[in-house]
Order: sequence, then structure tokens, then C-alpha cells
Amino acid sequence: MNNIFKEQKERLTRFDNMNCLQQMEKEQESKIIANIPDDLYKRCTSCDKNILKKDWEFNLLVCPYCDDHARLRARERLNQIVDQGSFEELLASSSSQNPLNMPDYSEKLAQTKQLTNMNESVMTGFGKIEGYQYAIAILDSYFMMGSMGCVVGEKITALVELATERKLPLLIFSTSGGARMQEGILSLMQMAKTSAAIGRHHQAGLLYISVLTHPTTGGVSASFASLGDVTLAEPGALIGFAGPRVIKQTINQDLPKGFQRSEFLLEKGFVDQVVKRKHLKEIIIKLSKLHQIGVSI
Ligand SMILES: [Zn+2]
Repeated sequence: MNNIFKEQKERLTRFDNMNCLQQMEKEQESKIIANIPDDLYKRCTSCDKNILKKDWEFNLLVCPYCDDHARLRARERLNQIVDQGSFEELLASSSSQNPLNMPDYSEKLAQTKQLTNMNESVMTGFGKIEGYQYAIAILDSYFMMGSMGCVVGEKITALVELATERKLPLLIFSTSGGARMQEGILSLMQMAKTSAAIGRHHQAGLLYISVLTHPTTGGVSASFASLGDVTLAEPGALIGFAGPRVIKQTINQDLPKGFQRSEFLLEKGFVDQVVKRKHLKEIIIKLSKLHQIGVSI
């Protein structure tokens, strides 16, 4: 009996030593990584692995280990999708005022503008994708969570109206926390305004491709983002109106696994296809061919 305990004890000590060695190796490894300048590595927020930044960028900001699709800035999205040098920006200098005189809003806007080098949370304009002419809007969640205030509503509406006039298809990349709280009811009115413009674009028989990216929620998901003739979504994107916590509290029930994620919405018929970022341009080109959109190279 004593022997058994002795053996067990030895085994445990060996195991402890092994753990200790592994721990030391890990520490050593992280020290090596820690000595590498920050701009060389990027830590994936989803799987926590370190990725060489240049590999991550080559992979269109998608983690090669867990396929996490990181949020893109509007300009990054533009560079990935739109033909170089073809984009003509619309209402580039429009930026929000403080219509309800909300405290701190003007300061926050000024700070955000400086940080993001953008005037608003959406970039709109006309550009080509492999020669196919599109009216394009790209939201940027780094600018006040891509929220929709009066200027975002106006920029999108103006784009859609011009697209209708010029008989152009529409492509919108959404990522948003919803309506801009600081603009209260005025921001909610943008839901009706943008939806009406898209309705007229639809009545003219023109194509609208809506691409939902992480996260697309609130007033944006409840208006123009959900009105696409074709709705695509990036993998794992959170898409919904209210957040899962609010819904859970309201209905007092556990939510199903994967609730409000792209794949779940595909299963329920809300999304037409979940498309990896690396295939997105190719799918848009296929849809353009399918819908016989005029090419003007
Ligand atoms: Zn990862």
C-alpha cells in the first residue's frame, strides 16, 4: 500500500515539474513576443492567439486560427472591395451638429473626428467593382459605433436617390449600434427616411445588395440594412434589433445557441448567404453578372 502512495507521489511530482517546465516555456515565449515591437503582432480578440500583423492584414483582418472577422474601418472596406481610384465620394464634408443641444455631444464628435479621420460614421459615393458601377455606402463602427443620426440618414438617402435617378445598383455595408442616442427622435426618423428612399429604388427595379457585418443592430438593422434584395452577412456577425441580454430579460427565457449570429439568421431565412470576407468581392461580381448590371470600365 505504501508503495502505491509512493509511486503516486512521484508521478505527481513529475507531473508538477512538467507543468512547471511548460509554464516556463510559455513565459519564455511570451517574453520573446513581448520583446517584439507591438506593431509586428496582433492578438486575436476571439481566440487570444498572436498573429503576425502582416499575415493578419494579408488575410483581410481575419484570424487565420479561428476565422474571426475583425471589424473594418470604412476605408479598409473600400480598399478591399472597390476598384482602385474609381471611388467618388458624396457629401464627404457633411458632419453632425448638435440639434438637441445634448451635453458633451459636440465635444465627443470633435474627438471622434480627430481619432478616426472621418467626418461621419458613414462613407457614401459612387465606385466600380471589377468595372461594375455601384452606389456604395460603408458604415464605420469606429465612429460612434456606426450610429445613425441626421447626417448619416441624409447621406444614405441622398446616395439612394441619386442611384435611383442614375439607374444604378446599390451596395451598403452595415455595421452599427443603431440610432444615435444624442439625436433622439430625429435619429429615429432616419429609419423611415432611408427606408422610403430604398423603397423608391426598389420600385424602379434596381438591385440593392445589403452586406451585414459585425455588429448590425438597432435602428440600422430595423431599416435600410434589412431591406436588401440580396442580404449577405459576414461569418459570426451579431445581427439583431435589441441585444440578447435585453431580450432574455424581457421574455424570461434562455435564448437558443448562436442566437442573432449570421449563421442562425441564415438558417431562419433572414440572410441569403454567409460569405467569408475573402469571397465577398467575388460574390458581388457574380451577383452583378447575374443581374446584368452595366459595366463601364
Ligand atoms: Zn483568432
